Amino acid sequence: MAVPESERLSAKELAALNERFEQAAPQEVLAWVDERFGTGAVQVSSFGLEDVALFDMFWRVNPQARLVTLDTWRLPTQTYTVMDQTKLRYKTSIETHQPDPEAVARMVAEQGFNLFYRGRENRVTCCHVRKVAPLEHALASIDAWVTGLRRDQGMERGSIAIVEWDAAHTNYKVNPLANWSFDQVRRYVDEHAIPYNELHDQGYPSIGCAPCTRAVEPGEDPRAGRWWWESDPNAKECGLHIVAPATHS
Ligand code: SF4
Repeated sequence: MAVPESERLSAKELAALNERFEQAAPQEVLAWVDERFGTGAVQVSSFGLEDVALFDMFWRVNPQARLVTLDTWRLPTQTYTVMDQTKLRYKTSIETHQPDPEAVARMVAEQGFNLFYRGRENRVTCCHVRKVAPLEHALASIDAWVTGLRRDQGMERGSIAIVEWDAAHTNYKVNPLANWSFDQVRRYVDEHAIPYNELHDQGYPSIGCAPCTRAVEPGEDPRAGRWWWESDPNAKECGLHIVAPATHS
């Protein structure tokens, strides 16, 4: 258990905190995270535009802020490039979690390298082995994880709170950019000259694994390029971001 019961916020405290943070800048939310959780907090990043902006803010709050990523072994080269650039710019290490090699070998032997193109069940299996299971490992003793989720990314993300009790991981999930727009993120990245994934300039608003991400047309849903061959537009999630109830009780 990451956050013991005695140290959790009550439902009333959590609601009051979220009410306050709705009007606050992301930096204020991050300062609260840093003060309350210290080294028990991490940012989990996939190095998309929101994530690089958020880490810049987190680093300005605390230059020792912890940065975690999941290397699925299928990421685009451009994502590895921005990881390297981030390390250099902030003189930080990136805590990298990878899949269990035996689980990957078993899955590939049974289903093939590109199993995800053959049905949603296969795709979910691959996301579980390469992303969800490593995330479980990454969060095993973490009190709070910070994400770059935004409400206007749609689907279940539309209902996220800024601070959520994450019952699955028994810790807090904090979304400081929940009420930011894409344009605000873009402006922040430009104003601070933050290294970002060059695929964003090639029509990729959302970037995941290379074989499962494509560019979108202007005006298309920003997540339409993820698992584009799947027919359900409301199922464009890999299982990392199951929306939790707003309280722990
Ligand atoms: Fe596998 Fe694609 Fe999910 Fe990456 S996004 S873990 S390659 S199914």
